[in-house]
Amino acid sequence: MEDVKRLGEALSPEELVTDNFYEICQLSADKAAHLPKGMLDAAEESVKIRQQSVYCAIDRRCGIISPEKDLIRSTEMYELIQVADRCFYIQCPAKIGVVLTGDGEVCLIDSGNDKDAGKKVKKHLDAKGWKLKAIYNTHSHADHIGGNKYLQAQTGCNVFAPGIERDFTEHPVLEPSYLYGGNPPKELKHKFLMAQECEVKPLSADCLPDGWSVVPLPGHSFDMTGFRVPGDVVFLADCLSSRETLEKYQVSFLTDVERSLETLEKVKSMQAEMFIPSHADAASEIAPLAQANIDKMLEIAGKITDFCREPLCFEQILKKVFEEYNLLMTFEQHALIGSTVRSYLSWLSETGRLRMKIEENLLLWERA
Ligand SMILES: [Zn+2]
Repeated sequence: MEDVKRLGEALSPEELVTDNFYEICQLSADKAAHLPKGMLDAAEESVKIRQQSVYCAIDRRCGIISPEKDLIRSTEMYELIQVADRCFYIQCPAKIGVVLTGDGEVCLIDSGNDKDAGKKVKKHLDAKGWKLKAIYNTHSHADHIGGNKYLQAQTGCNVFAPGIERDFTEHPVLEPSYLYGGNPPKELKHKFLMAQECEVKPLSADCLPDGWSVVPLPGHSFDMTGFRVPGDVVFLADCLSSRETLEKYQVSFLTDVERSLETLEKVKSMQAEMFIPSHADAASEIAPLAQANIDKMLEIAGKITDFCREPLCFEQILKKVFEEYNLLMTFEQHALIGSTVRSYLSWLSETGRLRMKIEENLLLWERA
């Protein structure tokens, strides 16, 4: 409690940022139950007294609150960091690229997770006197498109998104619907899984700024796309996770195992001055991290195959995955990791390691 208070007091009002703590707690009471002792009181007090929300990061793909660490990290949040002559990124839970494309004109790569993120981006642009021309979304997950609506309303900028990602961005209810596999319950229709809609144009080569090229990175989502921009900087979106995230959360979200592996092999052989993954540190060398992600995926696939020595239904397999990796089950995690495990099952079946069968009206998976 004392530690938490001390941290809270050490931060300026601007640094105490983002999401309303009550909203998070209401989303998932069981998450609040896992907060360290005293954290909830301190947070409530902070909201009451300072009219501020306490920063609690929920990694959209992980769904777990890690308050102490992220309170500390929030002091560095939304800093504008230069990586090349005309290329910057904003340090935040899903990094936002800021690239000068003309005289005082910039384009963004993604827009952060909500209106608050959009406001912080706008503040940087205003301070520099930069005009926002367009947002290029790498993919349609809410933490990458959440600032679109605010920034588009404020500046009239264009928003571009690749392939199917455009449809998901224009109709955000598709995201929780995809994860859930039907009309989603309200527990899954919140801003971490469903952004606000905005007007989106299809991404094509002729709508790119001079010197930009697209880097297709399918797998984590259907048509995820990275960008190589002047200064030889490559924005890698969510095709890989940091070592800390792999260690802590183990199962990274994906829609297609085969395409994820192909993308990671491709990334391993890429050269650039700087790589900027959304959820890992910027680095000039990316191959070792790409390999660590491949190794983790193959490990997960191996474990799922082992579980299916006896025929199991999906919920039993998911339970075993959570137990094996010591993950915390929540509605969001059931949807996110559940969707990912389903994708592993499809891939294992297509590659001849598992097969499906129906027995007593249960769909079961077993080793082939
Ligand atoms: Zn993503």
